[in-house]
Amino acid sequence: MGKALIIGCGGVASVAIHKCCQNSDVFEEIMIASRTKSKCDALKEKLSGGKTKIQTAQVNADNVDELIALIEKFRPDVVLNLALPYQDLTIMDACLATKTHYVDTANYEPPDTAKFEYKWQWAYKDRFEKAGITALLGSGFDPGVTGVFTAYALKHHFDVIEQIDILDANAGDHGYPFATNFNPEINIREVTAKGSYWEDGRWIETEPMEIKRVYNFPEIGPKDMYLLHHEELESLAKNIPGVRRIRFFMTFSQSYLTHLKCLENVGMTSIEPIEFEGKKIVPLQFLKAVLPDPASLGPRTKGKTNIGCIYTGKKDGKVKHYYLYNVCDHQESYREVGSQAISYTTGVPAMIGAMLVMNGTWQKPGVYNVEEFDPDPFMDALNKWGLPWRESFNPELVD
Ligand code: NDP
Repeated sequence: MGKALIIGCGGVASVAIHKCCQNSDVFEEIMIASRTKSKCDALKEKLSGGKTKIQTAQVNADNVDELIALIEKFRPDVVLNLALPYQDLTIMDACLATKTHYVDTANYEPPDTAKFEYKWQWAYKDRFEKAGITALLGSGFDPGVTGVFTAYALKHHFDVIEQIDILDANAGDHGYPFATNFNPEINIREVTAKGSYWEDGRWIETEPMEIKRVYNFPEIGPKDMYLLHHEELESLAKNIPGVRRIRFFMTFSQSYLTHLKCLENVGMTSIEPIEFEGKKIVPLQFLKAVLPDPASLGPRTKGKTNIGCIYTGKKDGKVKHYYLYNVCDHQESYREVGSQAISYTTGVPAMIGAMLVMNGTWQKPGVYNVEEFDPDPFMDALNKWGLPWRESFNPELVD
């Protein structure tokens, strides 16, 4: 059916590319373009022999002209941005210049401030509308599937959703005392930031990890989880009418938190450059270099993830609760695509988002978050492409 340009060749991209190749009726041709071309070539080598035709290229996605040249040469139907949040705006600029649809999994974050917000990308709405192209923002799991789940719950189960609790549990064990499951720099910026949640029309800010709950997750069991700010809170607060409270919780083990606290206390998680042997270095980037590469965790990680949303609202005047979630097994993901479940749960929805934009199901000129489209085709695709969802009408609630 079409051609996709995939930018980035890290943990998430590798899964999305495997999935595009499994879905070769839709993804007839792909180009994998990233900063380090050898990674793209290695993946191409691994996947060659399938029906999807694969090309590779080197690109610096911070450079709009390079991106435009690449897009003009390959002429893709969609660009799937699986590089880092820092590249979102340059890639959107290149899509505008070439009138090409755009999909990503994480909102823009300026490199020098740990502040992720949608405002920079939402500001492109008029220009995408005028150019007649679609930008689909945040088509990973969280954000991504969590927004699709919410649109589905609203469409099929509620007249109004009043409360949303998004619960992200990882019960995987990789055997290292400390490692992050996706890009360490992005992950640590996220978890060391202040927490916040949406209530009655405003943001309530908390200290990092200030709010803790224990939740008994289906198929995983009880886990400590902590309230974090997370990017989908911002778009759901805007797009779900009548919602009064939205919170996001993620599980962390005591060992992870102890290591993180220690690294923080000694200054290793800082993004302020420091002088070291006559050179400026960013402590967090140095830390990334000494931590295990998330891609190397795949063969070692055992256990499951459970990510989902608990909704409270009203249907026909009565209070109703509804829980939608997915359970993903690290080892099964690894056997299928050579990556653990964190990359898997992001890469599969990235492929699905690109597919729905490419085949026209989710095309609408402008800039949109996933919950603004009809959730049904995405929900069907999750079941088909490896992330089956489950539902419960009587869930344990979070106080
Ligand atoms: P990785 O660090 O594994 O991969 C990032 C890739 O982007 C690497 O291949 C890297 O190249 C490439 N890259 C970085 N900078 C540039 C650049 N300037 N030009 C070209 N390529 C570049 O990250 P992940 O795969 O873990 O994460 C990818 C994205 O997915 C991130 O934005 C992350 O925030 C998001 N994510 C979203 C989730 C969700 O549920 N929505 C969950 C997890 C992640 P090189 O190989 O040279 O380093």
